[in-house]
Amino acid sequence: MALVEQVEAAPGGRRRLRLKSPADLSTIGEVEVCGVEDVRAAVERARKAQPDWAGLSFDERGRFIERAVRVLLERQDEFLEQIVSETGKPASEALTSELLMACDAMQFYAKRAKRILAERVLPLHLLKTKKLRISYRPMGVVGIITPWNFPFLLSLNPSVQALMAGNAVVLKPSEVTPLSGRLVEDLFTAAGLPEGVLSVVVGDGETGAALLEAGIDKISFTGSVATGRRVAEICGRNLVPCTLELGGKDPMIVCADADLDRAARGAVFGAFSNSGQVCTSTERVYVVEDVADEFTRKVVQETARLRQGAEGEFDIGPIIRPEQLEVIESHVADALAKGARLLAGGRRNPDQAGFFYEPTVLADVDHDMLVMRDETFGPVLPIMEVRDEQEALSLANDSRYGLNANVWTRNKRRGTQLARSVDSGCAVVNDCMLTYGVAESPFGGIKESGIGRVNGDLGLKSFCHTRSIVVDRLGGRSEPIWFPYTARKARTFKRVMRMLWGSSLGRLLS
Ligand code: NAD
Repeated sequence: MALVEQVEAAPGGRRRLRLKSPADLSTIGEVEVCGVEDVRAAVERARKAQPDWAGLSFDERGRFIERAVRVLLERQDEFLEQIVSETGKPASEALTSELLMACDAMQFYAKRAKRILAERVLPLHLLKTKKLRISYRPMGVVGIITPWNFPFLLSLNPSVQALMAGNAVVLKPSEVTPLSGRLVEDLFTAAGLPEGVLSVVVGDGETGAALLEAGIDKISFTGSVATGRRVAEICGRNLVPCTLELGGKDPMIVCADADLDRAARGAVFGAFSNSGQVCTSTERVYVVEDVADEFTRKVVQETARLRQGAEGEFDIGPIIRPEQLEVIESHVADALAKGARLLAGGRRNPDQAGFFYEPTVLADVDHDMLVMRDETFGPVLPIMEVRDEQEALSLANDSRYGLNANVWTRNKRRGTQLARSVDSGCAVVNDCMLTYGVAESPFGGIKESGIGRVNGDLGLKSFCHTRSIVVDRLGGRSEPIWFPYTARKARTFKRVMRMLWGSSLGRLLS
């Protein structure tokens, strides 16, 4: 069964999608799909609105964003209800991982963009008669395409960064969670953002593809590796800069001296929060043999305490997209067929009407199994016993992904060294995931996990063109390297080169 169903369109009418709750399969609503013309119109509106928006000062732009924070605080229950109805995630989880982090992101960039994007004047190391000005100009209209796992935060956060940098935004949220994506537009409309500066175009891959071809100036894409490749191809052809935030297969390394209680709780949270549908979920654990039995026993104990459900207080919600459920089942079946041992879960939850998969713990796994190689994106925690930290490290790096990683040890220095040795864009010591939620931290992957960074100074600057202006300070009739070229000038340059880079005093000065 599909969670998002095509509705028969009236002749000449627009395509429509019917949305169902992943928790109880009830119908939530219908949306009209934006076609090529709608997308072009949104980009056109954004193009018209952008210069005036960019003409505002950082403080003026920041005031709109701060107003949006206040609107979100006032209407948080309404926003929560919408996100929970589309995703089925526990309300407490939606509160912290979507709304709380959204408020933090908005306030962070509203307050700091002015400093981060301030023009810098630099003296030059060699050309003392010049100075350099580095400034950041908005790119124009930014297209933002987002997935369904954190439908509000992942749509809002890049939008805020693009807006604070002076761009207009056309946002295309996932077809699985379009109503939560649309909340971003509702929020900024309520905050009084000028017409056209941010609009949402709702639809599936066709709408996303139309946005890529609509003449935008930058794409910020968050989603799967397969779609990311297609996005990169089109951006390559059109020479449009893109940031790609893609999938992950994050390793966890548990050293012999780790605090095993904390590590086991961290493993369970890292693997099962949002039902494992997090790009930075802990998807594979390497635990050194001295502590493997004790660690695994604690993980199984913690897992048994989790409450899966759809109403009231619970910890684990449904799988948001039924196709993902099939991926999860195929990974677990493959592991069991190849000799893995099932310690918890391992099946759909028979007590629930919706798409629920029980939190699952596997032992005796190896790298021949899909569950250790491909992104599962579900509540599955495979634990592999290793000889020592070195073996853990080489297995952690035996992956085509490189998004995030986590390392657990009481020796923080050693933990940081290990974290540095993991091939990933981000890592955490004695905690898990987290990096996306730390606004100062540039976030993104290496290898197939993506290209570029969002968040922090670097992320904000990625929504800008960097412009360098060199200014001559002294004037005068001519410069030494200008015409005419003469033998005398050449001899002088040779002397200068020897002096600058052939002597220790020169190297000190250059
Ligand atoms: P997806 O690639 O299927 O879809 C992502 C978005 O792309 C959706 O809005 C979709 O409609 C759109 N899209 C689909 N085809 C398109 C096309 N041809 N052109 C343009 N747009 C198109 O991904 P998903 O299933 O929604 O999300 C899950 C994936 O996202 C997982 O792999 C997860 O790891 C990844 N993810 C990564 C991050 C990160 O920050 N690195 C964060 C969250 C999720």
